[in-house]
Amino acid sequence: MGKDIPTIYIVVPSFNEQEALPQSHEHLMQLMDEMIVQDIIAQDSKLLYVDDGSRDDTWKIIERLASESSRVAGVKLTYNSGHQNALMAGLAAAVDHCDITVSLDADLQDDIRVIPRMVERYKDGCDIVFGVRKERKTDIWFKRTTANMFYGLMKRLGVSTIENHADFRLMSRRAVLALLDYKERNLFIRGIVTKLGYKTDCVYYDRSARIAGKSKYPFKKMVNFAIDGITSFSVKPVRLVMHVGLLFLLIALAMLIYVLCAYFMGRAVSGWPSIILSIWFVGAFVLIGLGIIGEYVGKIYTEVKNRPRYNVDTTIGLDQ
Ligand code: UDP
Ligand code: MG
Repeated sequence: MGKDIPTIYIVVPSFNEQEALPQSHEHLMQLMDEMIVQDIIAQDSKLLYVDDGSRDDTWKIIERLASESSRVAGVKLTYNSGHQNALMAGLAAAVDHCDITVSLDADLQDDIRVIPRMVERYKDGCDIVFGVRKERKTDIWFKRTTANMFYGLMKRLGVSTIENHADFRLMSRRAVLALLDYKERNLFIRGIVTKLGYKTDCVYYDRSARIAGKSKYPFKKMVNFAIDGITSFSVKPVRLVMHVGLLFLLIALAMLIYVLCAYFMGRAVSGWPSIILSIWFVGAFVLIGLGIIGEYVGKIYTEVKNRPRYNVDTTIGLDQ
């Protein structure tokens, strides 16, 4: 640590990844060995797997990998805390042992061959290097379209994110420490890192298909993640209010069309159109307004509780 050749910790959050992990591990180990031989990274670099409360054999696999190699470390969370929290847990565990961290998904959808280039950019003085995917050919149409809509919406709402960057990212020790200082519970890490103010750069790669296993982000989780990214929190009943408001708005618009038709056909009773439209439109706007306020109140609610983000059960290979 702290030498010319940096010590790197590759942090991999894993939730029910028993199918993907062994294969991913092989690729990662090979890459680490190559980088060590080429003096790109230091000997004491490690792979750090975070088991995010998996219900399958993920932790057993991590334990086995750690017993086979001193280059493997593991952190086991007691319950499923979500990708972002698992990543924070991994970064927090890694930060005192290394000069740089690289965060990566367990399914190796992100091309690990660009990691040496990331390290190069670090050596050039960048504190954060974003992995950005060039295209999303391997994602299904639905995922691609929704993701593009999400990034577009984020941009219009003024949340700064790097387009097509997930959580494949190199961070220097001081950048990780700065990130860990953000104590909020409602985490949207990729929105925070762009705010840290350090020198950043991007490396580009093609995203491939999942190495094995299924996506741990089903549509429901994806929608929630997107909404959390915008408001940083969600309370279900409040969101329901919002949805009802939107529904009312639709009804109001349908009513508007109906009323206009009735008017032009000379069938409208005088006084009726204005009243019926007011009822639906006012109702819709009140509900939507309540929904928006509720989103923020909900956010305050979770922040105020100040609960821990995760709880570490066991760690392996991290004693120093
Ligand atoms: N993940 C996690 N906790 C969760 C959900 C996902 O640690 O609750 C991990 C998962 O194991 C993977 C990464 O987050 O390493 C990204 O998940 P996934 O590849 O399923 O997402 P997608 O690429 O489909 O968006
Ligand atoms: Mg994936």
